[in-house]
Amino acid sequence: MSPTGDLSTIATPGLTIGGDVVTAAERTEVINPATAQPFVAVPAAGPGELQTAAQAAHGAAPSWRALPLAERQEYLLRLVAVVREHLDELAHLLTLEQGKPVAKARGETESGLRYCERYAAMDLPVEVVRDDAGERTEIRRVPVGVVGAITAWNYPLLLALWKIGPALVAGNTVIVKPSPYTPVATLRLGELAQTVLPPSVLQVLAGGDDLGRAITSHPLISKISFTGSVATGRAIMASSAPTLKRLTLELGGNDAGIVLDDIDPAAFAEDLYWGGLSNCGQVCAGLKRLFVPAALAPELEEALAAVAATVVVGDGTEEGVDMGPVQNRPQLDRVRSLVAAAERDGADVYFRGEAPPGPGYFHPVALVRNATDEMGLVAEEQFGPVLPILTYRDLDDAVARANASDLALGASVWSADEDRAVQVADRLEAGTVWVNQHPLLSPDVPFGGLKQSGLGVESSRYGLLAYTDISVLRVKRGRTQGA
Ligand code: NAD
Repeated sequence: MSPTGDLSTIATPGLTIGGDVVTAAERTEVINPATAQPFVAVPAAGPGELQTAAQAAHGAAPSWRALPLAERQEYLLRLVAVVREHLDELAHLLTLEQGKPVAKARGETESGLRYCERYAAMDLPVEVVRDDAGERTEIRRVPVGVVGAITAWNYPLLLALWKIGPALVAGNTVIVKPSPYTPVATLRLGELAQTVLPPSVLQVLAGGDDLGRAITSHPLISKISFTGSVATGRAIMASSAPTLKRLTLELGGNDAGIVLDDIDPAAFAEDLYWGGLSNCGQVCAGLKRLFVPAALAPELEEALAAVAATVVVGDGTEEGVDMGPVQNRPQLDRVRSLVAAAERDGADVYFRGEAPPGPGYFHPVALVRNATDEMGLVAEEQFGPVLPILTYRDLDDAVARANASDLALGASVWSADEDRAVQVADRLEAGTVWVNQHPLLSPDVPFGGLKQSGLGVESSRYGLLAYTDISVLRVKRGRTQGA
C-alpha cells in the first residue's frame, strides 16, 4: 500500500519485532485466490526472529502487566482507532489475500474492533472471599505472560483481534502468527500497532507451520490461543505439553441444522442458505449438514436453489460480487474431490451455480441431495460452498444423526414454534445451539466447541478470563504489632 492510500499498489508489510518493523532473509509469496497469482512476498520469520520476538515480549511483559487495567484498555482503544483509520486499506488487503468481497472484509475488520471495544470496557475485579478478624482472602486474576496467537485463513483479522483484545487487556504481551496463506493484513495490523502501543507488547511474525510449531514449544511463551484445524489442535497440545502452556483451541465444526416440519420453506430459505454458505462456506461454525423432514424437502430444496441462483461468484474486489473464491488451492481440490466422490456414490448436485472459469480458485455454489451421512461430504468438515440437504422421517433419528459427529461447535433448530425448537435444541450437543439463526457470534457471548471442536472459549468475560491465571492472596489477621 502506498502512503497516499493508493489501493492499486501494495507495499510489502514487515514483521514487527521489539517495536520495529523488520524484514527477514526468507520470503513467502502470497497468492490472490481470485487470480491464482502471487501479489506480494512477505518476510518469513525463522527461529532467530522468533527468539528475538519472544525475548522482547517476555522483557516487555512486567511493565505492561504493571499498568493499571484502565491504561491497558486505553491502549487497546488506540489500536482500535488506528485500525479504523486504515479500514479501507486493511479490507483491501484482506480481499486480495483471502478472497472475500471488500464489503465483507470491512465487516470482518469492524467486527473484530467491536470485540476489542467490549474487552476495553470489561472489569477484572479482585474477588474477596473472606475478610474478617481471622483472614483476608482475595482471588486475583493475573496475566499468564507471553501469548502465542496462531490463526487460520478464513477470517484472518477477526481471529487475530479476538485474541489480541483479551490478551492485552488481561496484561499479557502477544506474538501473533497468521496463516501462511493470509499473512498480509495481519502484518499490516502489527505495523499499525507499533504506532500506538509500547514496543514489544504486540508483535506479528509471518511464517509457515514450522514457525507455529516453534511457538507452541517455546519456553518463554506461556499460552497458545489457536484457531484452526482439529489435527493441528492435537499437535499443539502435544508440543506445548513439555512447557505446560495454557491452551485455548478453537477448532473445526461440522454443524448440523435441523428443520422442523412446521416452517414455510420460502420464508426460511435465505437464512438457511447464508447460515451454511457465507464466506464461501469457510466458516468454522457454518451450517454444514442440513436435516429436513422428507415431506418438506422438495419445497425447501427449490427455495434454497432460488436463493443460490441470485448469488454472484467472482473476484471480491469487483462490485456486485457476493461470494469470492475458495481461499487456497489445496482447499479447492479438497472440496472438488468431496463433491465428486459424493456424486460417484449417488448424491445428486441438483443445483450448481455459475462461477468464473479460473485460474482463480472459484467453486460454484453446490446444493446436494441424496447424500448419505457416511459420505465424506457429510461426515467431514468440507469447508466450501456446498450444502448437503439430508432428509429425515423421525425427529429422534435426526437428533441422533446430528449428534453422531465428533465435532460439536454449533448446531441449530429451525421452526415456527420457538418452544418446540428449544426442546429439540436441548438435545443437541454443541458449544452453541441457535434457534432460527446460524451462526451468530457476539462480544458478550462465549464461543467455543464441545468434543473435538476445541478447548475453552473466546469472547465475553469467559474469554477474557482465559488469558489469566488465578493467584490467591491470604493475609492472616491479628499479627499487627501491639495487637
Ligand atoms: P490449520 O490448522 O492448518 O492452520 C491454522 C494455523 O496453524 C496456521 O497459522 C498454521 O500455519 C498453523 N499451524 C499448522 N500446523 C501447526 C503446528 N503443528 N503447530 C502450530 N501451528 C501450526 O487450519 P486452517 O486450514 O488454516 O484453517 C481451517 C480450519 O480452522 C478449519 O478446520 C476451521 O473449522 C477452523 N476454524 C475454526 C474456528 C473456530 O473458532 N472454532 C474459526 C475459524 C477456523
